[in-house]
Amino acid sequence: MSQPAFDLKGRVAFVTGGNGGIGLGMAAGLADAGAAVAISGRDAGKLEAAAADLKARGADVMTLAGDVSDRDRVFAMADEIAGRFGRLDILVANAGINLRKRPEEYEAHEWQSVLDTNLNGPFFCAQAVYPHMKKAGGGKIITIGSMASIFGIPKLSPYSASKGGIVQVTRVLASAWAEDNIQANCILPGWIDTALTRKARHDIEGLHDRVVARTPAGRWGDPKDFAGIAVFLASPASDFVTGTAIPVDGGYTVQAG
Ligand code: NDP
Repeated sequence: MSQPAFDLKGRVAFVTGGNGGIGLGMAAGLADAGAAVAISGRDAGKLEAAAADLKARGADVMTLAGDVSDRDRVFAMADEIAGRFGRLDILVANAGINLRKRPEEYEAHEWQSVLDTNLNGPFFCAQAVYPHMKKAGGGKIITIGSMASIFGIPKLSPYSASKGGIVQVTRVLASAWAEDNIQANCILPGWIDTALTRKARHDIEGLHDRVVARTPAGRWGDPKDFAGIAVFLASPASDFVTGTAIPVDGGYTVQAG
């Protein structure tokens, strides 16, 4: 009998930046659908708290400290996960940072740090999980873009370069690794209430209300809004879906004005 469409029992997921925000929302969804989850991040305290959350909902959890821009560490993390659980089926390359400035203000190292985390990081993660997915007979790769993958937002130069780039990288992975039964898709979140947007919400007068007014759903997104899409893209339900970039934005991208 084939596996039910949304069932992740027996599957193992690696969620980078799974220790908070959208990553934790997706890790919780994957865990609830039956997957074992390995979450990574740089902050040990946040990792511990997130692991406790996930364990409280009955999940089999592993934590890994590591920076996604460190290619050697990323490969070691993938090996550690496969060593602990015996396989690695799902990658959620979610870890990301932002640095808001006008284009003329960025120093070279600031530009580079955003690209290192948001674009190099997911690419290294995909390279690291590939042999494990190939061995398992297939896999699911989920990357995270943004509204900045689509729109030209004045204070988001390196962020937009990384989030536009990751959509293209995802399409490349989807076509290159289709022969290995690996599907790769990108999620484009709208405006979500997390640590990443907290400073902007505080510093930019009127931002909170403008987002609510511009979003047909009439609210900011919540990390919980990403559980369902993560399960869909990680499960057999999406076996014929690959190379897409799916907005999860309360309709932000379809609002005309
Ligand atoms: P958070 O800041 O809440 O979470 C980001 C996570 O990434 C943290 O858990 C952080 O953990 C981890 N992280 C950051 N840098 C690194 C690194 N170099 N190596 C390893 N882990 C790292 O932000 P969000 O949950 O909002 O963001 C998650 C993703 O969603 C990002 O890719 C972001 O760009 C994207 N996104 C978010 C939107 C929003 O409105 N919030 C909108 C569009 C896209 P630690 O600090 O422990 O390293």
